Amino acid sequence: MIYPLIKGLATTLKHCVSKPITLQYPEEKRQVYPRFRGHPELQVDEDGRLKCVACTLCMTVCPSRAITKITPAEGPNHEKYPAEFVIDLTRCIFCGFCQEACPKGAIALNNKYELAQYDKRVLIYDLEKLRAKA
Ligand code: SF4
Ligand code: SF4
Repeated sequence: MIYPLIKGLATTLKHCVSKPITLQYPEEKRQVYPRFRGHPELQVDEDGRLKCVACTLCMTVCPSRAITKITPAEGPNHEKYPAEFVIDLTRCIFCGFCQEACPKGAIALNNKYELAQYDKRVLIYDLEKLRAKA
C-alpha cells in the first residue's frame, strides 16, 4: 500500500531535479541545427553590396513560384543588380533550390523560424526585407 506512494513520490522528486526537456518559449529560443532551412535571404559582400546579379535562375527553379519578381538593372560599370526582388514567403516551401541554383552564392536560407503573422501581406518580402543582416 505504502510502496506505490513512495515510488510515485520518488519519480516526482527525480523529475524536480532533472534538467527540463522543454524551453520557456518565447523567452528562450531553440538553437536550430546547422542544416535547418529557414527563409531565403539575399547575401551581401564585404562592402555591403548585394551579391545578386539578377540572373533570375532562382526564380526559374523555384517549384512553388514563391519568387514573384526580379527586375534586373545595370550600374555605371555594367554591373548587374536587382532593382526589385520579391519573395512571397506564404508560397515558399523552404526547399533550398534557389540557394542550390544560384551561381553567385547570393541567396541562402537562414535559420529563422518565427514567421507567424496575423496578416499574410507582411510575408511578402521585398529587397529591403530580404537583405541579410550582419
Ligand atoms: S526555398 Fe524553395 S520555395 Fe522558397 S524561394 Fe527558394 S526555391 Fe522557392
Ligand atoms: S539570387 Fe542568385 S540565382 Fe537569383 S537572381 Fe540573384 S544571382 Fe541569380
